[in-house]
Amino acid sequence: MLNHNKILVINAGSSSIKFQVFRIDETKHQPTFTILGKGLVERIGIKDSNFIIEVANGNDFTKHEVVQDIKDHVAGAQAVIAGLIKYQVIANFDDITRIGHRMVHGGQKFNSSMVIDKTVVSGIDSCIPLAPLHNPPALKGLSAFQKLIPHAHHVAVFDTSFHTTIPQEKFLYSVPYEWYTDHEVRRYGFHGISYRYILEKLAIVMNKPQTKVNAIVCHLGNGASICAIKDGKSYNTSMGLTPLDGLIMGSRSGIIDPSIHNYMCDVKKDATIASVTNDLNKASGLLGISQHSSDLRDVIAASEDKNHPKYIQSQLAIKMFVQRIANYIVQYANDLQNNIDALVFTAGIGENSFIIRDLIINEIKILTLKLVDSKNRDKYDDFLLISDKQSQFPIYKIKTNEEIIICQDTYNLLISI
Ligand code: AMP
Repeated sequence: MLNHNKILVINAGSSSIKFQVFRIDETKHQPTFTILGKGLVERIGIKDSNFIIEVANGNDFTKHEVVQDIKDHVAGAQAVIAGLIKYQVIANFDDITRIGHRMVHGGQKFNSSMVIDKTVVSGIDSCIPLAPLHNPPALKGLSAFQKLIPHAHHVAVFDTSFHTTIPQEKFLYSVPYEWYTDHEVRRYGFHGISYRYILEKLAIVMNKPQTKVNAIVCHLGNGASICAIKDGKSYNTSMGLTPLDGLIMGSRSGIIDPSIHNYMCDVKKDATIASVTNDLNKASGLLGISQHSSDLRDVIAASEDKNHPKYIQSQLAIKMFVQRIANYIVQYANDLQNNIDALVFTAGIGENSFIIRDLIINEIKILTLKLVDSKNRDKYDDFLLISDKQSQFPIYKIKTNEEIIICQDTYNLLISI
């Protein structure tokens, strides 16, 4: 049994490391996890990197920000640990013995969280072709913390593993079957850590076991997806082989005709499969249509300002964004045969934009869904019922918390070490 009572949660991206530290209080019944500090290192490898740490102070956080050059993930990990010590979130290096890492793609190899050893690392490594933008930085983050704190035990928590329950007819693409058997081409789905948190929360609020919860959850952030949860399990989701599929996102296209790749390579000078893929990931979605921003706040502001040069484009981007979400909700209501306990909005847009929630609900014509306007506009950000009694099923906005799920899994998997 470990005596140390802290867990560090890491989410490493290509140029950033997000972190949170939790204290574990073990009572007779079940442990509780309290956040002690959180923050991020951003612009790693880019001039003027930024280190931000927020230290828990009662119910509030005190924020400290330092601009310093951070050349790589090892330097980023060093900045995280040094900052945690400096601001007394941890006493010293020895204080951290358990670290949970967010991993995006576990492919078909990982259907649950794993204690990390060499085999797990090589499994995550072998999923790189499936997530070339996400798995390499997460592995870099892992390796940086392994170097820095050699005594720590690590756990990988996958964004894909929640979706391993999706039935075959929903996870297969209608392509030659050998693409699946020989090359693992299938729908994997992402944001599973967020969906697990929402499922836990719904079960508590509805006073039901998780295995009885049926819901449609819209995780609408810069990356966006939607999930049909049936009997507490993922039953369908909009992201696919990679996070590019499904909804229109900040800068990702979502569903397109697969012939577009080939066509663009034929008609656009210098276009390659790689450059078209890059454009579909980084120059499409809200950014592509609005022609000015991938950030919904900017797009909404422009869509409300007749003098904005991208006024019309921004209105169009929002219309397309909303219509696609509405269509998925209807499709998933059909998948769940209308046996739905809740429709949930979560993540940056889902939690914060009453305009988008309102537009989506108004776009759905074949279900009877009704919001209470004052509730929809309410800024309370943890968990709120925002629908009217006449609504066919309740609609909630819920603040997601992926870090607490990573912390719980890390605790549970390392409890006996
Ligand atoms: P995430 O990836 O979950 O951090 O979400 C990022 C997205 O949430 C961006 O498109 C933001 O514009 C959007 N967002 C964050 N806060 C708000 C807000 N108050 N109103 C509208 N959109 C917001």
